[in-house]
Amino acid sequence: MKKRAKILLIYTGGTIGMIKDYDTGALKAFNFDELLQNIPELKILEHEIDTLSFDDPIDSSNMNVECWVKVAHTINDSFETYDGFVVLHGSDTMSYTASALSFMFENLTKPVIFTGSQLPIGDLRTDAKENLITSIQIAGLQKNGKPVISEVGLYFEYKLYRANRTTKINAEHFQAFASLNYPPLAESGVYLSVNHNALWRPNRRQKTKLHTGFSNEVLILKIFPGINAATVEYMLSKPGLKGVVLETYGSGNAPSDDWFLDILKRKILEGLFVVNITQCIGGSVVMGQYETSVQLKKIGVVSGKDISTEAAVAKLMYLLGKELSPKVFKTIFETSLRGEMS
Ligand code: ASP
Repeated sequence: MKKRAKILLIYTGGTIGMIKDYDTGALKAFNFDELLQNIPELKILEHEIDTLSFDDPIDSSNMNVECWVKVAHTINDSFETYDGFVVLHGSDTMSYTASALSFMFENLTKPVIFTGSQLPIGDLRTDAKENLITSIQIAGLQKNGKPVISEVGLYFEYKLYRANRTTKINAEHFQAFASLNYPPLAESGVYLSVNHNALWRPNRRQKTKLHTGFSNEVLILKIFPGINAATVEYMLSKPGLKGVVLETYGSGNAPSDDWFLDILKRKILEGLFVVNITQCIGGSVVMGQYETSVQLKKIGVVSGKDISTEAAVAKLMYLLGKELSPKVFKTIFETSLRGEMS
């Protein structure tokens, strides 16, 4: 007989479980039990589902490194008990948390599926039910007794994506996420069709290993026409700053003015890690393709290739937590660790 998959459903907060505060008109997180009562369908799913909620569910705008680690520990503590995990999370910072989790779990051998919704589960037109039910089904997919998905995924509006490839692209549409540099891992229609060629393949002979050391001494510097020396100098002089995600134009291009390159060069020599990623939501940094990126490469800027902003921030925090030498940092950052870059 086919074994029923055991799934742990973890509720961190987000619109999916919110209700309207009639005094202020704003959405706020509410009780997980009430959320469950709104989904009687859970009882008829073929899988065995246990649930667990953060004591104080949060809007994902309040997520931070401690919360990421809390989610990771929750999964890790019951890793052997369950076949898969579904994390309910606000959509606003879901791509950041899910990317961070992907780096935290080395050689992940089970599915960790993030989902949420644009409308609360109690709303008549909600997108929450489909997102939640299909996420559970995806987390429970098995072949020959092994999970089909063995990575951190993000399921939203009929598509399962590799989580560390996603970006929230729309604050209103049900299709709130995109993954421009990597195809969906699965699509849900009449059939749930899995794109097997796109899946991450862990080494099943080795155990999953948890890493929780992160450094949040980072910032994102998005350049724009007109940015001046004082601004760049001020931002990169923040005491304690260890790493910068430099959001450049197109394929990794930035001003070629001496002042810009001089500041960057000095900061890199002083030990700052600078990663070049593109402001575009698709495509890749190719340093050296244009004259405006040749110097960046020469002064030691690291290439983020086609990584998303969310995954770049998470990867930077993760690698800074490991206190690597500049040379090793560059080599590892420019290598795909969890399928986050091509
Ligand atoms: N503000 C909400 C959050 O990220 C939005 C959502 O859940 O979709 O928690």
